[in-house]
Amino acid sequence: MKRSILWFRNDQRLADNAALAAALATSQEVLPVLIMEPRQAAASPYGFSRLGDRRAQFCHEGHVDLDARLRATGSALLVRRGDPASILQELASRWGTRTVHAQRLFAWEEQQQQQAVAAVVDLRLNEANTLLHADDLPFSLERLPHVFTAFRKTVEKDFTVRHAIPEPAHIPTPQDWVDAARSDDSALYTPAPSDPRAVLRFTGGSSAAQERMAHYFGEAEHLGRYKETRNGLLGADYSSKLSPWLATGAVSAREVYHAVKHYEQQHGANESTYWLIFELLWRDFFQFSAAQHGRRIFLRNGLTGKSITATTDARRFAAWCEGRTGQPFIDANLRELLHTGWMSNRGRQNVASYLVHDLGLDWRMGASWFERMLLDYDPCSNWGNWQYVAGVGHDPRVGRRFDPVRQAAMYDADGAFVKLWT
Ligand SMILES: Cc1cc2nc3c(=O)[nH]c(=O)nc-3n(C[C@H](O)[C@H](O)[C@H](O)COP(=O)(O)OP(=O)(O)OC[C@H]3O[C@@H](n4cnc5c(N)ncnc54)[C@H](O)[C@@H]3O)c2cc1C
Repeated sequence: MKRSILWFRNDQRLADNAALAAALATSQEVLPVLIMEPRQAAASPYGFSRLGDRRAQFCHEGHVDLDARLRATGSALLVRRGDPASILQELASRWGTRTVHAQRLFAWEEQQQQQAVAAVVDLRLNEANTLLHADDLPFSLERLPHVFTAFRKTVEKDFTVRHAIPEPAHIPTPQDWVDAARSDDSALYTPAPSDPRAVLRFTGGSSAAQERMAHYFGEAEHLGRYKETRNGLLGADYSSKLSPWLATGAVSAREVYHAVKHYEQQHGANESTYWLIFELLWRDFFQFSAAQHGRRIFLRNGLTGKSITATTDARRFAAWCEGRTGQPFIDANLRELLHTGWMSNRGRQNVASYLVHDLGLDWRMGASWFERMLLDYDPCSNWGNWQYVAGVGHDPRVGRRFDPVRQAAMYDADGAFVKLWT
């Protein structure tokens, strides 16, 4: 009987899951496992845990949903806590297999983890959750263009998005695995109360992701006006809000792309439908950049290697984290993050610029706070965007400072957003 372990990482879904498809194609029995790593919740260099309660809860909800969906196919998710290499080695030996299928991840720590696991089992890595398959790029990852526009123009010349892989109806798993797969990671966080001011009640897992997709793509007025509304600050529908589910892999970038194409067939293509795919290309760009640059996306001098001066003043940083800088527009955005785990893209650009250019703080402090707080934290998108704002990443222009007074006048002209969070 050929068995293989299916190691779920940031791919909380059964549809369009290449690792699952590979496991099913090559084995008669599949053993799904998810491993919570203590590293993810370890203390950052700035003294707080890298994993905040809201993100932990969102991930937990995703695990519960994944388990329920697996059980509907005859399988079940085993959730373990510890070092992936040791756990996978132990499971492989106990269940009589050496093969482990998993999704490839591009960020540095995840790559280190892949190497450690590959040293003890036969690790078969499958495609990452990107819109474009790395093998379809017209250049090798080592030769990724440094500037986003060059990347986009090159890939748009021959734009190939592969089909999404259908969700399997049945996953063969031994009954004793299903019976043993009772696990609970809820103790790893304290449930946070939901804030009535939140733009959306984000629930983890692919079921909620599909609901959000059906809502956002189901009616003409949302996606059809995305380009005009995407700089919004208030309400559920100024942007897709799909990032938390993309970050946990509850939905694939390809599924989002095909949903946009379906929308275009129903309602027609326009600048807005193009723009959502354009944003998914930004996401891809940061994923591929992380693969190319490894540890450098976390270094103070970034990809440019140029020396920057910054302070690590703890009081200034605490005021920024808690939304007490005294700058109303900045504080409103930071309080939204503190109380909900969400901040708009417009808000993120502003608070990041403020931390770097107005407070003179080390950009990595802000990036670490985002890692802790954001529901949609993704190492590639987060550190890549922070480097960009700090002028040590992919931005061809340096010293790009946002003027918060002007920004508030443009994007919160009636002050409703600041009022909501005061
Ligand atoms: C300092 C800073 C830190 C950020 N940290 C993260 C992060 O940790 N995780 C994260 O997913 N995004 C991050 N972003 C990017 C962006 O702010 C969010 O992806 C976006 O606000 C999510 O909202 P949405 O899903 O409604 O996006 P939409 O506007 O609906 O866009 C659709 C999707 O495109 C992708 N996308 C959009 N903009 C970007 C971008 N600039 N970079 C990468 N992908 C993008 C996201 O996956 C998003 O869900 C960061 C931006 C900044 C300026």
